[in-house]
Amino acid sequence: MNENCLFCKIIGGSIPSSKVYEDEYVYAFRDINPQAPVHVLVVPKAHIASAAEINTDNSVYVAKCFEAITKIAASEGLGSGYRVITNCGEDGGQSVMHLHFHLIGGVKLGEKII
Ligand code: 5GP
Ligand code: ZN
Repeated sequence: MNENCLFCKIIGGSIPSSKVYEDEYVYAFRDINPQAPVHVLVVPKAHIASAAEINTDNSVYVAKCFEAITKIAASEGLGSGYRVITNCGEDGGQSVMHLHFHLIGGVKLGEKII
């Protein structure tokens, strides 16, 4: 955990969030500024700064995030599809430096991603 990190504070409960899912490795909550009817942020409980920091020692957290995404997509009624996005670094548009996956759905999304 990183005491200066917004998402570590959300995981720890010192900043409130709308929790969607939680297990030993993963915390998921609704984005405060949703871009679609369903917009959930899926975050590892370990402080990994971005996708650029994934390595052999911490990649289990990434796998657990994707296992959680499968479950959340089902519980959110996204059976006809959804999109998973991670922004990485300054040019990737990342604003919170704790790895997170945007799970977006509930509407038919366009084929283009940018
Ligand atoms: P990024 O731009 O880093 O990929 O995504 C960060 C996301 O975190 C944004 O979609 C933003 O709306 C969301 N966000 C920022 N601060 C908060 C917060 O305090 N609570 C919640 N639930 N979402 C937040
Ligand atoms: Zn963090």
